[in-house]
Amino acid sequence: MKHPKEEQTYVMIKPDGVRKGLTGEIIKRFEQRDLKIVALEMFQPGHEQLDNHYPKNEEWITRLGHKTLTTYEKYGYDAMLDFGTIDPVVIGPEIRKWLIDYMKTAPLVKMIVQGVHAVDVVRKIAGPTMPYLAEVGTIRGDFSIDSPALANKEKRAVMNIIHCSETPEEAAHEIKHWFGDVKVCDYKRFGVDE
Ligand code: GDP
Repeated sequence: MKHPKEEQTYVMIKPDGVRKGLTGEIIKRFEQRDLKIVALEMFQPGHEQLDNHYPKNEEWITRLGHKTLTTYEKYGYDAMLDFGTIDPVVIGPEIRKWLIDYMKTAPLVKMIVQGVHAVDVVRKIAGPTMPYLAEVGTIRGDFSIDSPALANKEKRAVMNIIHCSETPEEAAHEIKHWFGDVKVCDYKRFGVDE
C-alpha cells in the first residue's frame, strides 16, 4: 500500500494550453496546492502514441458519441445534418478522431503530479470537461469558454486546456504509456514533506 503522499496522476497540457502560454500558470496551481511535480517534459508525440492514449473500447467511444448527442438535443441542433447519423457508435469515433487531430496541432507538456489524493485534487483544480460550465477559479473556468455546441459545429474537439487522469488506475496506465519506466525525481518539498 502506497503512502497517501505518493499518489500520482498524469497531466498533459493540450495545444490550446501551450499556445495560450499557460504552462507556468498551470504548474503554479498544482504546486500552490502542495502537489509535487516529479516528472516534466515538453514534446510532440506522433499519431500512434496519441491513438493509443485514448481508449479504444466501444464503451468509451460510445460514451463520447452519447455526450455529443446530448449537446445536440440540448441546443436543438440537428446531429443528422452534421454527422449523417444519430448513432452514438458512429459519432463516437468521429469525435475521437477530432481529438487526436487537435492534439497534433502543437507541442504538449506532460507531467507526473504527486501528492495526497493527487488524481481527484488535480481534476478539481482543472474543472469539469466543458469549459463553459467550469467554475471561475478552475483552470478550465478561468482560461477557456469553449463548448461542445461550438466545437461540434466547427468539427473539432472541445479545447479545454489540459488532460488529467480520471482514476488512480487510469493514472498508472497513462504514466506508463507516456513515461515508460522513467525514474521520477525524488525531492522533499518545504512545508509538505518536512
Ligand atoms: P476529460 O476526461 O475531462 O478530458 O473528458 P472525456 O474523457 O469525456 O473526453 C475527452 C476529450 O474529448 C475532452 O477533453 C474534450 O476535448 C473532447 N470532448 C468530450 N466531449 C466532447 C463533445 O461532446 N464534443 C467535442 N467536440 N469534443 C468533446
